Amino acid sequence: MNLKSKGVALPPNAVIGIVGGGQLGRMSAMAAASLGFRTHILAGKPDDPGVQVVNSATIGRFDDPEVLKRFATAVDVVTFEFENISAAGLDLLSELKPVHPSGSILRISQDREQEKTFLGSIGVPVAPWQIVRERSDLDLAAETLGYPFILKTTRLGYDGKGQFRVRDASQLDEAFEKLSPKPLVAEGMVDFAMEVSVMVARGVEGTVRCFDVTENRHVSGILDLSLAPARISTELMAEAHKLARRIAEGVDLVGLLGVEMFVGSKGELLVNEIAPRPHNSGHWTMDACACGQFEMHIRAVTGLPLPEPVRHSDAVMKNLVGPNDMALWPEIVVADGLIPHLYGKREARVGRKMGHVNVLFPKGGLPGEFGVQAALGPLAARTED
Ligand code: AMP
Repeated sequence: MNLKSKGVALPPNAVIGIVGGGQLGRMSAMAAASLGFRTHILAGKPDDPGVQVVNSATIGRFDDPEVLKRFATAVDVVTFEFENISAAGLDLLSELKPVHPSGSILRISQDREQEKTFLGSIGVPVAPWQIVRERSDLDLAAETLGYPFILKTTRLGYDGKGQFRVRDASQLDEAFEKLSPKPLVAEGMVDFAMEVSVMVARGVEGTVRCFDVTENRHVSGILDLSLAPARISTELMAEAHKLARRIAEGVDLVGLLGVEMFVGSKGELLVNEIAPRPHNSGHWTMDACACGQFEMHIRAVTGLPLPEPVRHSDAVMKNLVGPNDMALWPEIVVADGLIPHLYGKREARVGRKMGHVNVLFPKGGLPGEFGVQAALGPLAARTED
């Protein structure tokens, strides 16, 4: 079976290979099963969330060529829920099977320097930034960007990890020492009015689909709440979609890509990050759209047609993070209107994403702050902690 020949969709029972055993792989596999596909996951541990719901799995290290070969042999197409796979690993997989999204997209998204350079090259606005390879670069960056600014690792940062907010010159040494691996990027602090994201899908034949713009709120660097649609003007929504489309076309995407953006204080959009996979801020689509982000992702990578991502309801998504949120589970499952999604993780460590709930509202009926909190029931009081 060769997906590279355009327009050829994989038939039912074809095997989708998913790299990564986390919750995004788990929910991708569940969507794939609904479309009649088989799934085979590459995961680090036999009890990982994704492994629990697939037909078969390869368990091993993602940087072991033998493991990657075994995995590729078992599947018809390769996709990802986890991007930090080595360049050599990507090349190996690409030699053996069609890989969507392509290795070149993953390489861009794995590295903040490449990502920002690429985005700039296609005219997508980003926050002012400077690369910091040596300690002396940091002085220069501080001078150019001014205080406060954010120092980030170029690689392997997620959920606010690998970041340091530099308040003044007295923190430069500590910030530089603390963060690794190097190099780092220094980013001007954006005085944002809101954080938003767009999930964009692109099919084998170039069809682009954008889900409605999502409004996102973080607590301690971790996504806490998403609201759909974002409470921004229709013009800004159209602009966000335009940027997402430009990125999807610019990287020749086949699959799904999450684009995180800041809405600046003057109403301008700046792209923060791209992630070529289903995204936490798109989880509301599972219940508020006929075809959610995971189904769209699977459709895109298997060559199936991409339906319009019609949203039939407004929605709020709340992450269940760590032991405190999980302690509320008995109340969550009996609460009216909370649609639960748990990821099958045995241990609720602090800061660990354990699941999420979606709450739906009639289309156009997304309430204000008070209504959102009221609708979250047992989870309401905890949104500010
Ligand atoms: P990131 O790991 O880049 O997605 O950053 C995690 C969170 O840190 C973002 O969702 C923002 O809330 C915040 N953040 C990151 N970069 C900036 C920036 N340049 N200015 C202001 N806040 C930022």
